[in-house]
Amino acid sequence: MAITILGGGLAGCEAAWQLVKRGTRVRLIEMKPERFSPAHESENLGELVCSNSFRSASLNSAAGLLKEEMRLMDSLIVTAARATSVPAGKALAVDRERFSRFITERISGNPLVTLERREITRIPHVEEGTVIVATGPLTSDSLADDIARSVGADGLSFYDAIAPIVEADSLDMNKLFSASRYEEGEGDYLNAPMDEETYRRFVDAVIWAQKVDPYPFEKIPHFEGCLPIEEIARRGPDTLAFGPMKPVGLIDPATGRRPYAVVQLRAENREKTLYNLVGFQTKMTHPEQEKMFRTIPGLESATFARLGSIHRNTYLDAPRLLDRFSRSTALPHVFFAGQITGVEGYIESAASGLIVGIMAGLCARGITPEPPPSSTAVGGLLKHTRDTTPKKYEPMNVNFGLMDAPPPGTTKKRKKEVLAAAAIAEIRKWIGRVDKLWEEEEGEKGAVVF
Ligand SMILES: Cc1cc2nc3c(=O)[nH]c(=O)nc-3n(C[C@H](O)[C@H](O)[C@H](O)COP(=O)(O)OP(=O)(O)OC[C@H]3O[C@@H](n4cnc5c(N)ncnc54)[C@H](O)[C@@H]3O)c2cc1C
Repeated sequence: MAITILGGGLAGCEAAWQLVKRGTRVRLIEMKPERFSPAHESENLGELVCSNSFRSASLNSAAGLLKEEMRLMDSLIVTAARATSVPAGKALAVDRERFSRFITERISGNPLVTLERREITRIPHVEEGTVIVATGPLTSDSLADDIARSVGADGLSFYDAIAPIVEADSLDMNKLFSASRYEEGEGDYLNAPMDEETYRRFVDAVIWAQKVDPYPFEKIPHFEGCLPIEEIARRGPDTLAFGPMKPVGLIDPATGRRPYAVVQLRAENREKTLYNLVGFQTKMTHPEQEKMFRTIPGLESATFARLGSIHRNTYLDAPRLLDRFSRSTALPHVFFAGQITGVEGYIESAASGLIVGIMAGLCARGITPEPPPSSTAVGGLLKHTRDTTPKKYEPMNVNFGLMDAPPPGTTKKRKKEVLAAAAIAEIRKWIGRVDKLWEEEEGEKGAVVF
């Protein structure tokens, strides 16, 4: 029986490609051109809705490493991007029209693909076989309602309001102190103390910083619980110091006094390799955020794993609703892939589609695979979608902080090089095991084969 994929975007097309290249039939259902989301306008599959960049091509960046892992796994999206690239310095950028035409031809011209151009308004029943939902951040309303009904209304978000995340080893720990409010000694938070002058300069800069112009469909009312920091700053010179930057219950051990204001950083994962700037959701542009947040004491050399944003984004509470194969625990014939699982970005969505396509294909054959290890960029990214550490699950870009730590003794300078070399070796092994499994007879249902 064919595997049904909902959504012919980056994740859906990559999942379809991984299945058909291994001989599995696919039914792909895409609503364009019958219906367009507010951001899509081309009839082609694999449309890029905004920038034409797939970010850095260097193995020194997590996005570059992820693309290299995908290339080693014969990714359609990476092949299309390389075939239609345009000069963009160290980044991989594409001619968007040729890029999505390339994908459309490869998918619609494949004899194992049946392409249905219509909006689907409910998740297909189990009798219709395995399903991969890859309808993206702008999933149409009727399907989103059906997904919410199936997984529970609390399980699906329609907007994100996300704060920046920094890599722990890029912080200057001499300027930060560990404490939770009203506690003595070591605490759960890292605190960046500010005196009054530093605080006032910071607030001014936040107010005047350049903000992202939202799309018309993203002009949403702000909820009091997750206001952007620039909106809080605009309300009065001390509003931030009484809000997310309040210093109450905190004593700076360097001065023995309560600071005028603090920025609190909370661990984002169990390994404490990533820290979230608590309450710092923002619509400032990315360059402004990097400039602004590096003025915070201790963050002068911060590496940002993710920058803040507030935008329209349909995504599941994946760690609580999906298993390690990205399969719904409520509906075991349904897998989710792409941005709807809480990965963020073109290349991350495509990578999710690639792995979920393979895992859904194996599961449909009665084989229980192991997801790629978290020593790889793609494995680290998927581990994020299973991480229940943060109280509220938020979308994430790929970054080195999601991957397993390098061996002890690795210098900071060599860290990325060591992680990249290990990741490439591991992904080669993983895809080798997958291809071997695919060739073998159907495994015993439920057996863990590797
Ligand atoms: C406005 C906007 C701008 C963005 N800009 C960038 C950017 O510049 N860079 C970046 O890296 N990331 C960006 N993203 C984030 C994200 O990475 C992309 O949206 C990416 O395309 C997600 O891939 P996907 O395959 O999950 O979803 P999509 O690529 O959106 O694909 C989903 C597909 O499903 C179809 N679909 C939806 N509902 C149904 C239905 N009911 N029935 C049938 N088909 C359906 C859609 O038409 C679409 O073709 C942006 C997101 C948005 C919303």
